[in-house]
Amino acid sequence: MYLPFQEIEAEELNDKDPEFIRIHSLETFGTHDGPGIRMVVFAQGCQFRCLYCQNADTLDVRGGQLVQIDELVERAKRQIGYFGTDGGVTVSGGEPLLQRSKLITFFKRLHDEGINTCLDTNGRLLDDQVKELLTHTDLILLDVKHINEEWHRKLTGVSNKPTLQVAAYCESIGLPMWLRYVLVPGWSDQPEYVEEWGKHFTDYKCIQRVEILPYHKLGTHKWEMLGMDYGLPGVEAPSAEIKKRTLDIFKKYFENVQLR
Ligand code: SF4
Repeated sequence: MYLPFQEIEAEELNDKDPEFIRIHSLETFGTHDGPGIRMVVFAQGCQFRCLYCQNADTLDVRGGQLVQIDELVERAKRQIGYFGTDGGVTVSGGEPLLQRSKLITFFKRLHDEGINTCLDTNGRLLDDQVKELLTHTDLILLDVKHINEEWHRKLTGVSNKPTLQVAAYCESIGLPMWLRYVLVPGWSDQPEYVEEWGKHFTDYKCIQRVEILPYHKLGTHKWEMLGMDYGLPGVEAPSAEIKKRTLDIFKKYFENVQLR
């Protein structure tokens, strides 16, 4: 049984305690979530229910801990010397947009200090607060987990339409974007859908990079710890052949494709 999404608590997460962000954890020298060396804040709570979620302990909007925005800014300032020209702060998750009002404050404060801001999101929301947040965001990392509505619902429990709307909005304002694609054998490796995904985004000018993230099973123990049955039992990491096939398709549509 997957933890149901707690809508009322999620709204409170955005509206209450404006000086605090509810976080799962903090990484001080992250190199996987955006350019350069980054402080990565993993926000607590998520509305998706991906069958392969590697961070199932970030889903509960009541979990994690409240940390003052002031404290996060001070920690980032202490790291400025390590960020170099490319690095900065990434907010990942869980799903950061659940706390969009607080992230506006956080990103503004980081920009006041000259620190680069990056948002790693599933794009489930596009309201006025999200739009304002994007004006304080230097780079968006957007997960588009499946181009087909039905498969997206099977894989994540929700529609892909909001995510596609966020992508289109970022293109309309020219916000630099990295697109991410989790490659899951039998679920998101269908060549016809990978082609469709590529065609959908190929004319976007704001895309700087497409990252293929091969599925792995590293987070399965968290499901067990939480008393949940893992969503993709028996599914293995993609073979070299599947990875190459997918990479070759994406390369037809995008200049910069990275297989991670
Ligand atoms: S969007 Fe990310 S955190 Fe949320 S369920 Fe999916 S993989 Fe997990």
